[in-house]
Amino acid sequence: MSAADIIVIGLGAMGSAAAWVLAQRGYRVLGFDRFAPGHDRGSSHGKTRIIRTAYYESPEYVPLIRRAWTLWRELEERYGRPLLRMTGGLYIGRPDTVLVQGTLASARTHGLAHELLDAEAAMRRFPVLRLAPDQVAVYEEAAGLIDPEAAVHAFQEQARACGAELRHTVPVERWSIDGDGIRVETSEGSFRADRAIIAAGAWLAELVPELRRLLTVWRILHVHFEPLVPQRYDAARVPFALWEDEFGIYSAFPELPGQGVKFGRHDSGEPCTPETARRTATEEEIVTLREQLVRYWPDAGGRVLWYLTCLYTMTLDHHFVIDRHPAAPNVILCSACSGHGFKFAPAIGELLADLATDPQSSPPALFQLTRFEQSEPARSPRRPPDRRSPDAGQSARSAHG
Ligand SMILES: Cc1cc2nc3c(=O)[nH]c(=O)nc-3n(C[C@H](O)[C@H](O)[C@H](O)COP(=O)(O)OP(=O)(O)OC[C@H]3O[C@@H](n4cnc5c(N)ncnc54)[C@H](O)[C@@H]3O)c2cc1C
Repeated sequence: MSAADIIVIGLGAMGSAAAWVLAQRGYRVLGFDRFAPGHDRGSSHGKTRIIRTAYYESPEYVPLIRRAWTLWRELEERYGRPLLRMTGGLYIGRPDTVLVQGTLASARTHGLAHELLDAEAAMRRFPVLRLAPDQVAVYEEAAGLIDPEAAVHAFQEQARACGAELRHTVPVERWSIDGDGIRVETSEGSFRADRAIIAAGAWLAELVPELRRLLTVWRILHVHFEPLVPQRYDAARVPFALWEDEFGIYSAFPELPGQGVKFGRHDSGEPCTPETARRTATEEEIVTLREQLVRYWPDAGGRVLWYLTCLYTMTLDHHFVIDRHPAAPNVILCSACSGHGFKFAPAIGELLADLATDPQSSPPALFQLTRFEQSEPARSPRRPPDRRSPDAGQSARSAHG
């Protein structure tokens, strides 16, 4: 006797979105999460997430993000409060950077509205910015910020409203094939369902060891700085900015009430496991981040309001894994992170629901596990080999002017 049609393991952004879509479609959904709602141990906390459309990682993401925009608006309707805040987005770097080239490629492939500004024009348009003469900025309006804690709460609230049963602080210890269904052992006993979705984020390899060679967990540090000039980086006037240069790829979030400016590095993190992740930050790390921030946002690097650590689950090519388990087609695997998954959550929820309920459906090739069967997976666009260490900030700042 199955307790549910579908068991969802992991109620972060992806599992909660899938639970919402499945419950809306009338399926009996039973969800488990090892921590309490709103916890800060995984990948879906931290007050803000960037949502953008001209997608530098690959133009193949644009149809999915378009679907996500529609579903985010639908979720806001049902939830009765805003989850998104439109700020516009800036993608800054030399014309030959992965960030600028990829953003322009996506915008041109899909006919997305955007502006390409040279350094002078960008600084005239956004006086808070500093760019080097050989840099450009791509600006798009279809971009902004999501409130991740509220978004996950909205998915869960809506899933429950459609009949889903979501159990927090109930870790799943293991799962197994049980006839034509799936059995899940938890701290609260054993449960059976016809199908399962495993969206356990940084813990995915613990539940699916076959994926261990494909996934690496990074500890990521984000710091909230108080701008030296209050409201100079107010999100009402200043777009978020991603920039790429010899020190790496960074993301700067404009000022929201009580939050200051948030800043962190995007293309590199400290390898760890969820258990070994360092949850504190050193003075040196914070100084280095401030040095990188003020190179482009000179008045943003005041005192530290707070910092947070969070986990990226990186695949070998930094694209998502959304696919059926090779040995259990009624078990759907989801690793939609690599530091850029949140914005897609409702559309990924739909994709997971389709895979779990329609044996004929298949994920986009970009997300299929079979892509790793070739000897050397395509090299990720994000980490050219010769990054200079940010500690050399001193010289970089002077070069940057
Ligand atoms: C610092 C940072 C900044 C980011 N910025 C952006 C951004 O600007 N834009 C963007 O689009 N994306 C961004 N991302 C990526 C995005 O946040 C992730 O892709 C997304 O949150 C992943 O969601 P998830 O559901 O896979 O993981 P999680 O939210 O971590 O959910 C996994 C859940 O599984 C549970 N779990 C694990 N093991 C078990 C078990 N055995 N039993 C039961 N439950 C279990 C965990 O408790 C957890 O709640 C960022 C990520 C980080 C860390």
